[in-house]
Amino acid sequence: MRQTKKIGIFIGAFLGVFLWIVLLWSGIAFLAQDNQEPAENPTGTVVTREVPEGEESTLATYEVEEGVVNFSSEEDIDAEERENYEKIWKEVVPLFPPEFLDKITKYQIITDGKDGLLAFVEKQWPADNWTLGIDSTDSIQEDGSFHKDFKGTVVHEIAHIIALESGQMDSEAQGTYTVEEGRLKEEAYLNQYYQKFWSSMDSSYDEEHPERYYRGHPDEFVSEYAATNPVEDFAETFLYFVEEDRPTGNTIRDQKILFMYEYPQLVEYRKSMREQL
Ligand SMILES: [Zn+2]
Repeated sequence: MRQTKKIGIFIGAFLGVFLWIVLLWSGIAFLAQDNQEPAENPTGTVVTREVPEGEESTLATYEVEEGVVNFSSEEDIDAEERENYEKIWKEVVPLFPPEFLDKITKYQIITDGKDGLLAFVEKQWPADNWTLGIDSTDSIQEDGSFHKDFKGTVVHEIAHIIALESGQMDSEAQGTYTVEEGRLKEEAYLNQYYQKFWSSMDSSYDEEHPERYYRGHPDEFVSEYAATNPVEDFAETFLYFVEEDRPTGNTIRDQKILFMYEYPQLVEYRKSMREQL
């Protein structure tokens, strides 16, 4: 599975306060392993592809309240399309721990054509409101079934919310890992993860070319995409934590998954998500 990501920050005036929006895009692309099409770089390894800004279009935006989507709020949607959007939402809901589903205030249907982006989450703050965006074209295949990576991608997106929701933040914290959404609490999952696995990262790591580092250190990450940055590493590792059995090895990759087992709350999320996979 290859995933793509785009982070953008927009600043806008909203009721007198600045509203910061960060986009955490995740997508999947299929040409690397699944199809016979050539890989994008000459060595044949998988490369993270950034989706160019503005390439996606929004097909519908629905308000969500306590996990319920108001599908009648968008009037000009073709009935068949709307049925697909409802079908996707029904697939998404059981994967969510209820306390995170309650943070979703918008459900957006977007598309960048076939492949590329599959899903994203976007946080708006100071309120802890999240938008879940889904590319409907990639989610449901022509035969009506869901793409094999659909649920996994949703789990990855949920991991972003777990790591970046407001309860994980503390603007007064000292020396903790700081992301676009704010400064993490000392005990925040992602801060602990960062301190353990990223703060003393080998100096050969180059954030402009994480794929190069990955090539030389494949046993440090669950996937190439995980090497992108700590935020994506956490989300990818969480996905493998949910999908795989408990590791028995001791590579850094394994240690990252085992890190998740140290938190009973995360183990609980894993259990309920696995029932839905
Ligand atoms: Zn992501």
